[in-house]
Amino acid sequence: MGDVLAIEGLGKRYPSGDGELTVLAEVTFSVAAGECVAVVGPSGSGKSTLLGLVAGLDTPSSGRVLVEGRDLALIGDRELSALRGRRMGFVFQSYRLLPALTAEENVRVPLDLAGVRGARSVARDLLAEVGLGARLGHLPAQLSGGEQQRVALARALAPAPALLFADEPTGNLDTATGDAMAELLFRLVRARGATCIYVTHEQRLAARAGRVIALRDGRVVEDRRAS
Ligand code: ADP
Ligand code: MG
Repeated sequence: MGDVLAIEGLGKRYPSGDGELTVLAEVTFSVAAGECVAVVGPSGSGKSTLLGLVAGLDTPSSGRVLVEGRDLALIGDRELSALRGRRMGFVFQSYRLLPALTAEENVRVPLDLAGVRGARSVARDLLAEVGLGARLGHLPAQLSGGEQQRVALARALAPAPALLFADEPTGNLDTATGDAMAELLFRLVRARGATCIYVTHEQRLAARAGRVIALRDGRVVEDRRAS
């Protein structure tokens, strides 16, 4: 099987004053099935921009992104939405749960959108797997930050995505809770044979991934696999 993800000469620039601001310049790397890659770099180095481009949420100024061999720029909006809904999962720093829905309902959303049968039991099993089997009926406001993020992880994994994207998923959590969250994410991704791109500014968490790509000023300055 080929690479799940190929990023070729990816660039993102914004007009700025008289000139141009280069946020990403010529980023190239590919990710094989089952790899878990941590993307690290200081604040402002382009990590979130990169993730947005790779997930098809934003369009590049140059270069291209291939997901499972398909160029995101060449597929239509409908196909891109379907690809995002069925093949990709997302976890953000700010959880982004729907506040009026319970934990179980939040996890069901992507399943119901995809018309998956047995959504209720899939959601319940996943919530049990992230340790929230006793919180199915809780609203996000009734959960701690760490619990909300575990619901967000369960929701992201619900459609059994090939690719999981996480943007600073431990950024709002204290150190111990964040470490447990990262551990859980790596474990669940590995158990599913999924591929993961994990963005963090914490070197300590990055070291747990199989591969670390470091960005600085929009360029890859290091690409290293754990030995
Ligand atoms: P990181 O996630 O590594 O902290 P970002 O990808 O969010 O970095 O941002 C990288 C740089 O791009 C920052 O300097 C930011 O100000 C700039 N940037 C991000 N989005 C925009 C935008 N829509 N317009 C102009 N500049 C932007
Ligand atoms: Mg960011």
